[in-house]
Amino acid sequence: MTPSTSTPPPPDRLPLPVHAPASILGTMKKDGSRIKMHPADVKGKWLTRRRVVFAVLVAFYVVTPLVTIGGKPAIQLDVAARRFYLFGDTFNAQDFWMVLLFALTFVFGLLAVTAWKGRVWCGWACPQTVFLEGVYRPIERFFEGGREQRLKLDAAPWTAKKVALRAAKYATYLFVSLNIAHAAAAVFVGPREFLAMITEGPALHMEAFLLVMGFTAVLMFNFTWFREQFCVVLCPYGRLQSVLHDKDSVTVSYFEKRGEPRGKAVKGPSLAPKGDCVDCNRCVAVCPTGIDIRNGMQMECLACLQCVDACDDVMQKLKRPPELIGFASHNELVGQGRRTWRPRLMVYTALMLLSVGTLGFSLATRTPFESNVIRTKGSNPFVLDGSKIRNPFEVHLFNKNPEASRFHLSITAPVPAEVSIGTPEVELASLTDQRVPVMVTIDREHVKGPIELTMEITDSFSGTTRRQVVRFLSPMSVGR
Ligand code: SF4
Ligand code: SF4
Repeated sequence: MTPSTSTPPPPDRLPLPVHAPASILGTMKKDGSRIKMHPADVKGKWLTRRRVVFAVLVAFYVVTPLVTIGGKPAIQLDVAARRFYLFGDTFNAQDFWMVLLFALTFVFGLLAVTAWKGRVWCGWACPQTVFLEGVYRPIERFFEGGREQRLKLDAAPWTAKKVALRAAKYATYLFVSLNIAHAAAAVFVGPREFLAMITEGPALHMEAFLLVMGFTAVLMFNFTWFREQFCVVLCPYGRLQSVLHDKDSVTVSYFEKRGEPRGKAVKGPSLAPKGDCVDCNRCVAVCPTGIDIRNGMQMECLACLQCVDACDDVMQKLKRPPELIGFASHNELVGQGRRTWRPRLMVYTALMLLSVGTLGFSLATRTPFESNVIRTKGSNPFVLDGSKIRNPFEVHLFNKNPEASRFHLSITAPVPAEVSIGTPEVELASLTDQRVPVMVTIDREHVKGPIELTMEITDSFSGTTRRQVVRFLSPMSVGR
């Protein structure tokens, strides 16, 4: 990948007068001030597909925190109770390692996709793009029209019409931002609590209210002003592109051999005397980060494919083949063909599959309760009492079922033993725990070496029975 900071265009490829030369960011003027981006409207197959993806993802991001599945939140991160709800399943602090596995799967998946197809996550699924291009930008177009009208409005004096248009636009932005902020809050408090907070009013939930207002302010700042700067200068993933790509990464590219030498359209076949690029600058005008993809692959390219749709439209009007801009790797562009599977992609994909497999196996074999044997704190692991040896310990039970359950505990030994269980029948609400004291006593004459006790726990809700081996400790088992 050639960063835009290192490859100035040849003199015959004039940069757009409104944009900076390729030696600085496409969203920056020569004096360092920011160019307000007004990407031109575009139509095409990629935009249609992106709109479908955006609609699905906006619904997912905004609606999921507000619904319940089987009486449980579809998604909730209950920090205070150290619980996490996901699609009707409940996870507790002991399951935190699964969240780490999930995060690893996501990270390795992102690495694999980036090495394979560049920043497609950025252009298609990142919430920043989904909300900016799928919600805020259409609102702007609705009130202020296409690119030319918006540029004119920006430059126009503050008339009553301009004030009314801007007020309507920002009021709609505020309404949308409030809704997104509320949906984000519901991720932490859960749908039921969230609805209760709404009906009871902010006075009773001032902390939550202020947090939502703060997040609304951040959304307003980000989506009404900061916008593409988030992707270009702030996002750490965006800054890592250079190390994630290689010469076989398939990214949005301009087919220079076909397009050059560029020049205004001439009638007739697409070949001599000029290349297919008619230097109309449509690909630059539609780009949300203001770059000219004809200068080569650049870090700011979000793989949104708007330039592909724009150029295909131009080619169609000129009756020339489409995809003067399309997906290609560096090696393809220099005539070395496409190579998909190379060591980098294999390693990223293998790591992702390993994480997915481990996560899937862990979820499939997840038990409905946990039981751990803990030697009693502050007490010796075994007590010599005349002719008897005693082992005090505790069984820590944790009910991971979505409902309350009754647990039955029993312990059997291969030799005569006296077993005392504090509470052999334990009633536990969902996601609660209890420690049950246990004392096992065996006559010395029966203890010739290590003894293994079998603890059996039956969970009435799931109908699961678990058997665990517990070592009976004695002077005869020390060191064995
Ligand atoms: S849209 Fe196509 S023809 Fe027009 S400048 Fe861009 S690459 Fe050239
Ligand atoms: S160069 Fe094309 S694909 Fe890349 S961000 Fe600009 S419009 Fe989107």
